Amino acid sequence: MKIQVVGSGSMWTSYNSASYLIDDNIIVDIPNGMCKYLYRLGKKVQNINHVLITHFHGDHYFDIPFYYLLKSKSNNTEVNVYCSKEGKRKCEKLLKLAFPNPYQEVLDTIKVKYNYKENFKVNDYEVKKYLVDHGAMKPAFGYVFKFNNNKIGFTGDTSYCKAVNDMAKECQYLFCDCMYIKGTNKHMGINDIKELTKKYPNCKFIVSHLDDETRNRLNEEKIKNVIIPNDGDIINIE
Ligand SMILES: [Zn+2]
Ligand SMILES: [Zn+2]
Repeated sequence: MKIQVVGSGSMWTSYNSASYLIDDNIIVDIPNGMCKYLYRLGKKVQNINHVLITHFHGDHYFDIPFYYLLKSKSNNTEVNVYCSKEGKRKCEKLLKLAFPNPYQEVLDTIKVKYNYKENFKVNDYEVKKYLVDHGAMKPAFGYVFKFNNNKIGFTGDTSYCKAVNDMAKECQYLFCDCMYIKGTNKHMGINDIKELTKKYPNCKFIVSHLDDETRNRLNEEKIKNVIIPNDGDIINIE
């Protein structure tokens, strides 16, 4: 399993917004700018067939129109979107706003398959969805991929909640929200990550959605089992 951290920052930094590319074919979140980020990394956006959306904030799905439009013009029109059940309406509304004229033709060409299940398969991975707590934004999900004997999780945006504990307990790697120095009811902070590293020493925490001051502090603190990625970093899991 090859995971590329496409974005590791929060919206209000010069880093790309939190997003990940798995095996050059699956993405977790599709923030505004995602297609550009991928082009800059030399990736072919049309090769992506699976999009997992954690929740419907703009910095997690606003590049959907560009992705749909490109897919409709490419030879590979397969599109699978995994999200909460308002996904179809939200994504199509956004597409219509962005491209009102080719809108229907795009949808007729790509015939998006939306998947709202709690457990599903993406390529060879079994994926489980976790309901996390992201303040007033409901629902918000994390995802855990099962791969051989490994489990690799993505928390999405979340406060420190039970689902995060459940994910950390079973994962070898957890890509997690650490936007702030001190966690809030919407996002985790360094204090939450420290607690997680103590409780779950077998898990490596790859922090993401970082504000700049949080990144600086994390770099100073050098917490065991915490990985602070740069945009474009690749983690290979055997
Ligand atoms: Zn959010
Ligand atoms: Zn966010």
